[in-house]
Amino acid sequence: MHTKKTPLDHAAPGSPSKATQTHRGHQESSRGKPEQVDVVVVGAGLAGLCAAVTAAQKGLSVVVLERSKTPGGYARSTLQGGAVVNWGPRALYKDGWGHRTLQSLGVEVAGARPGGDGLHAMLEGKLVPLPSSLGTLLRADFLTWRQRARLSGLMLTMMRQPDEALAHQTWGQWLDGQDLGPALRGLIEMFGRLTTYSNIPQLVSAHAVLSQIQHAFRHGVLYLDGGWQSIVEALCERLAVASGRLETSARVVRCERVADGRWSVETADGLSFDAGQVVLAVTPKAAAQIVPQLPVVQEWADGAVAVRAQCLDVVLESLPRPDVLSVQGLDEPIYFSVHSETARLAPKGQAVIHVARYLGDETGVGKGPLSLEAMMDRLQPGWRRVLVWKRSLPSMAVSPCAVLASKGGVFGRPGPAVPGQQGLFVAGDWVGQRGQLACAALASGAQAGQMVAESMVSSDAPRAWG
Ligand SMILES: Cc1cc2nc3c(=O)[nH]c(=O)nc-3n(C[C@H](O)[C@H](O)[C@H](O)COP(=O)(O)OP(=O)(O)OC[C@H]3O[C@@H](n4cnc5c(N)ncnc54)[C@H](O)[C@@H]3O)c2cc1C
Repeated sequence: MHTKKTPLDHAAPGSPSKATQTHRGHQESSRGKPEQVDVVVVGAGLAGLCAAVTAAQKGLSVVVLERSKTPGGYARSTLQGGAVVNWGPRALYKDGWGHRTLQSLGVEVAGARPGGDGLHAMLEGKLVPLPSSLGTLLRADFLTWRQRARLSGLMLTMMRQPDEALAHQTWGQWLDGQDLGPALRGLIEMFGRLTTYSNIPQLVSAHAVLSQIQHAFRHGVLYLDGGWQSIVEALCERLAVASGRLETSARVVRCERVADGRWSVETADGLSFDAGQVVLAVTPKAAAQIVPQLPVVQEWADGAVAVRAQCLDVVLESLPRPDVLSVQGLDEPIYFSVHSETARLAPKGQAVIHVARYLGDETGVGKGPLSLEAMMDRLQPGWRRVLVWKRSLPSMAVSPCAVLASKGGVFGRPGPAVPGQQGLFVAGDWVGQRGQLACAALASGAQAGQMVAESMVSSDAPRAWG
């Protein structure tokens, strides 16, 4: 069956307002008889878009079903008064799994590495200069001579790929075993939070944290010009070029195996598809709701511990204190960074600032002596007078699943293939063994798309289009 494809409404890089116009293009044929396609991808976050582009580039007919009005999931950005603002602070691991996956799909990102002047740490409520390179860090004033010597040994350890055996050890256990004084432990814990977003050392895998720190030290991260929306738009564009289709405002409520090993997929408002393969690129909880008949997916959802952060996103006319560009808490789990100082995000002079508190658990919202606005008062006094826009996000799920030591770190993560369910895959930042956060979302999406294409060829399943 040849199906007419709906073109995507493309946005210029860095103009998220256009992306929010990506319209649903429900096909009339879907409303009666189920529409036959090779692949249905549920969810148009980074993982879903990557899975869809990968499969579509292999010549398969692909439909992406997204419950929101716009694609992108947690990677969307907002356009405010000429500035592009991500939802919370964002850094893409340079040359990491995500970056390399994007390049393999023909998506080039533009951006720069943060660093240079204006870096500070916060210790006992005071700002202390934080050296900008690993070499100068060894001369940090807040460390004693003995701690600096200890740090140089630790740096050598942290520059190496960690031993896989550390996957079962918690980050807290690893830190306890290093015999660090409070200031040095605070510094190392800060690196862990900064690179993984997690503040649950008693649960996360030491291997996972050390891998992120190692990658950040060796390759650095990128703040992206035009925000993370630029990735979303580039992936949507690749999807359209490969003749894939995106349906927005299409919430999938059910996915079941039917005759001939095919899958029936239905949305809340009556679209139905008969698909050769399905990729569930949603959180484990959302996946369990879509396939309630599969206990293994429910187990993944039940075992998940979310990584959470409280965020404050701010746009200012100008910076009251241009010398304070980045602050990382050493004895408090806090983050402050002027992202527009590194990436092209705002008209000249304006500043896009992200402030965050890494939350330890669900009940940790608002914990700590300083609220995020009070932190702004402290770091950028008078900011309210030059305020263009602000957004407060009390508890964001940075990832639905922290990488847990109890599950064997990244090596114990599920998918992309769902065991015993031919033609059913999962993708997202909780799936597969490649990278963490957005890197894992992008890499597992591409892996799922690749597996879909391979199983289509090996099974010689009847194709829907062409
Ligand atoms: C505040 C914050 C800061 C972050 N900072 C970083 C960072 O600096 N570096 C980094 O690497 N990562 C970062 N991340 C993580 C990164 O954003 C995520 O890992 C990534 O965006 C997850 O993509 P995903 O496709 O797996 O999931 P999602 O973005 O959650 O996408 C899932 C999509 O599925 C849709 N959906 C759900 N249910 C259904 C349904 N029933 N039917 C149809 N559609 C459905 C959702 O609407 C959504 O669009 C951050 C996240 C947050 C929240």
